[in-house]
Amino acid sequence: MPEIAPITEASRNAIWVAVLLAALLTMNLLDSRTGRAIRALRRGHIAAEAFGVQTPRAKLLVFIYAAVLAGLSGWLYAHFQRAANPTPFGAQAGIEYLFIAVVGGAGYVWGGVLGAGIVVILKEVLQSYLPYIFGGQSQLETIVFGIMLVLLLQLAPQGAWPWLTSKLPFNPARKMPDTSVKLEHRERAPGTSSVLLHVDKARKQFGGVLAVNDVSFDVNAREIVALIGPNGAGKSTTFNLITGVLAATGGKISVLGNDVANAPPQEVVKLGVARTFQHVKLVPDMTVLENVAIGAHLRGNSGAISSMLRLDRTDEAKLLAEAARQIARVGLSDQIDQLAGSLSLGQQRIVEIARALCVDPMLLLLDEPAAGLRHMEKQRLAALLRQLRDGGMSVLLVEHDMGFVMDLADRIVVLDFGTKIAEGTPASIKRNPDVIKAYLGAAA
Ligand code: ADP
Ligand code: MG
Repeated sequence: MPEIAPITEASRNAIWVAVLLAALLTMNLLDSRTGRAIRALRRGHIAAEAFGVQTPRAKLLVFIYAAVLAGLSGWLYAHFQRAANPTPFGAQAGIEYLFIAVVGGAGYVWGGVLGAGIVVILKEVLQSYLPYIFGGQSQLETIVFGIMLVLLLQLAPQGAWPWLTSKLPFNPARKMPDTSVKLEHRERAPGTSSVLLHVDKARKQFGGVLAVNDVSFDVNAREIVALIGPNGAGKSTTFNLITGVLAATGGKISVLGNDVANAPPQEVVKLGVARTFQHVKLVPDMTVLENVAIGAHLRGNSGAISSMLRLDRTDEAKLLAEAARQIARVGLSDQIDQLAGSLSLGQQRIVEIARALCVDPMLLLLDEPAAGLRHMEKQRLAALLRQLRDGGMSVLLVEHDMGFVMDLADRIVVLDFGTKIAEGTPASIKRNPDVIKAYLGAAA
């Protein structure tokens, strides 16, 4: 057997340089356009794809980057040990690496370093001292190790790193984006005559359930259209058909003349269709600013390598400036630096609107935006939507608050059991006997 060379001072330095470099590059990557797309994957692929993120590509990038780092550490190990044995590459070691990530805090760069420190030192200490205490019972070490890790995770379920940083007496202040740098805007048609969204006999079947049954309607430029109906009427499914989350079973849907009935969400958003979700899809452990900046994903073009090397800063400044502007527009500037998950549900819905506005949309689709808002907040939202319409945007919204809808909408489309039962001005919908029977009830 070859002698295993002791780790020298020089090799220890080389390893630390590699660790610090990898940490720096990774932190640069995570704090960028590509990094936000990667972090958004934690919340599922639907929200990320709605803003143009190519999720398979992002996942592949993460896999390759992780493989490069693993390869680098394997090379350093073999190089300095002068011999490679299979122990650090086996299943047992794999479990230990996972342990390290969980203990330190998965998703935190320094959590990896801290977790490795905790696990390695703890094992080392237990191995050296337990035999003296219990007289050479080797299984005890695993049990005591396990108990200590369970206790640690009880104390800090997200991992040791976020627990430690939350205990700090100060919060590292972030620089607020400079809102003077600007992104290009889309051209908008001047009048209200052009058809922006054309839905023609759209149909969606889930097994035996006909969720959307040959529904047809248009949304014109500079118009607010409301889609109303009882729960389960097919409103959210219609949104999913328009935005490419679901493929239609039949019918035609076009945006500005482009057929989107079977287009993926990343293509639909390119045409200027942005949306919010009935069940909020924000990344809770990212700030409001970072969440909103995901909306501007398609308006930047820096890739992973330039982000790691910090060559993306002009591009990045524009995206963050746009995000900050939209946050100010919806009135959440005071919360810009807070974690999205710490906001009330009503505020999170507003954050989703700001994120959608970052697309610079022609058509904004809002799924129950006023749910959970107080009276004053609803009025502010209505004023914002009117202002957006007057600025050239169209809005299609689903909402159950009839006071809000009747005041705001130019036109209303009513669905019941997947079928359109009425369409018209708020005044005519209020009087329509079919709508009263199916939805509004006698009180309306
Ligand atoms: P709304 O938004 O109007 O309340 P939805 O569009 O969410 O209604 O749902 C319409 C109908 O389609 C409901 O009966 C619902 O159960 C069904 N549905 C929605 N999404 C799915 C799905 N992914 N799989 C199966 N059925 C679904
Ligand atoms: Mg719904």
